[in-house]
Amino acid sequence: MKQTTILQNFEWYLPEDGQLWNNTALEAQRLAELGFTDIWLPPAYKGQAGIHDVGYGVYDQYDLGEFDQKGTIPTKYGTKDEYLAAVRALQDAGLRVLADIVLNHRMGADATETVQAIRDDEHDRNVQLERTSIQAWTRFTFPGRNGKYSNFQWNWTHFSGVDWDASENRGAVFQFAGKNWAQKVDRENGNFDYLMGADLDMSNPEVILELDRWGRWYLDFTGVDGFRLDAVKHISFSFFTHWLSKLREDTGRALPAVGEYWSPDVSALCEFLDRSGQVMSLFDVPLHYRFCQAGQAGNGYDLRDLLRDTLVDRRPALAATFVDNHDTQPGQALQSWVADWFKPLAYAVILLREAGAPCVFYGDLYGVPHDNILPVPGLETLLLARQKYAWGRQTDYFDRPDLVGWTRSGDPRIPGSGLAVVLSNGEGGSKLMCLGAEHAGETFVDLMGRRPERLTLDETGSAEFPVDGGSVSVWAAGTDHTGGITL
Ligand code: CA
Repeated sequence: MKQTTILQNFEWYLPEDGQLWNNTALEAQRLAELGFTDIWLPPAYKGQAGIHDVGYGVYDQYDLGEFDQKGTIPTKYGTKDEYLAAVRALQDAGLRVLADIVLNHRMGADATETVQAIRDDEHDRNVQLERTSIQAWTRFTFPGRNGKYSNFQWNWTHFSGVDWDASENRGAVFQFAGKNWAQKVDRENGNFDYLMGADLDMSNPEVILELDRWGRWYLDFTGVDGFRLDAVKHISFSFFTHWLSKLREDTGRALPAVGEYWSPDVSALCEFLDRSGQVMSLFDVPLHYRFCQAGQAGNGYDLRDLLRDTLVDRRPALAATFVDNHDTQPGQALQSWVADWFKPLAYAVILLREAGAPCVFYGDLYGVPHDNILPVPGLETLLLARQKYAWGRQTDYFDRPDLVGWTRSGDPRIPGSGLAVVLSNGEGGSKLMCLGAEHAGETFVDLMGRRPERLTLDETGSAEFPVDGGSVSVWAAGTDHTGGITL
């Protein structure tokens, strides 16, 4: 029995050495032992910045590190063959591979075209400022690939707009004349269809046909198991309903998908899920911001609010919970890094509670050397506690602003399972909590090793579970302080 546990297997500042795929293949067995079930790999196709591209500056989605384009054959992460080998190695270890799919935009075109355009107000894209003729980077011919896998070439008619006029070297939001921004998108900036690069026009049937064809090619070519979908709030909400449903129908495969809808507003996420037919789950961005606020506020934060207005609270079956990611890490566009002291508490919340599919960030598991950030202490213990103890009925004790906790009753199919978690952002203390009478007389220890004592549960399966200030303790049955967990 395994519970879904996702690893985001990259951070922004990985070395540009083409070694991620090889290193991932070597790690596959250990990742499975830690309890991961799904590995999210970064975009595998050639980006405009070549070896330097993290993967979101998409140039050619048929070049998985195979062709001499953008100054390199391999991508930042390795070659096509190394990617395919990493996917196999992960699958051989029993893991599913989630591919990062970026369909909102293209960058690094091979040539410009003259296009009539409307310059929009950057902050309200419904306001049109002037009509003008621009040189747009919209012609993609992929000379380095020379038609292998696909003869499709992109031109301006496949896009809705760009943010650069090469004739005058000026940046602005340019909407192509005769085109409309998609209407069912996020409403920030009036209309948030346009994000960056050359924005794909999902109302053009040629675009839909090509994305359908590419999706099928990618699945057949790589054998990946599912998707992480980039920038879904910038794409017409009905698009992925079509794209995913068709791929699932054509392949007969489940193809689990997690979308990135970056908004702290849970109602925006729920609206997207409803309008798109719930074809994917979404990352719980509101929960991330709760963690961020709690970490910054210290003992001034009311821990009873930690889950309020989050996706895991509103739509538990469709929430992929996470603490940080490649966009929230220091120096990145959405920087909102959760404070060091709070990280173990946040990971206890996503890994040891019943609801949500937790996604662990590479930078938290391995550290971020670029910023001297160390691995989150105790994270591997929490991962193993999820596998071994975090089973069964959950009972919440969110009854004090500075001290909250919950218990899991355990599952008879997992011998020894069941646990009690207690978090404090104040001076610490203890909380009387119950696991159920079937645990009467058991001896519990703190798996995190932060509290030395052993607790004996009373005849109702209850105890006063202590925690230090600004800390988390995870209590479970065991005879030594590790509870039998071996790292
Ligand atoms: Ca768009």
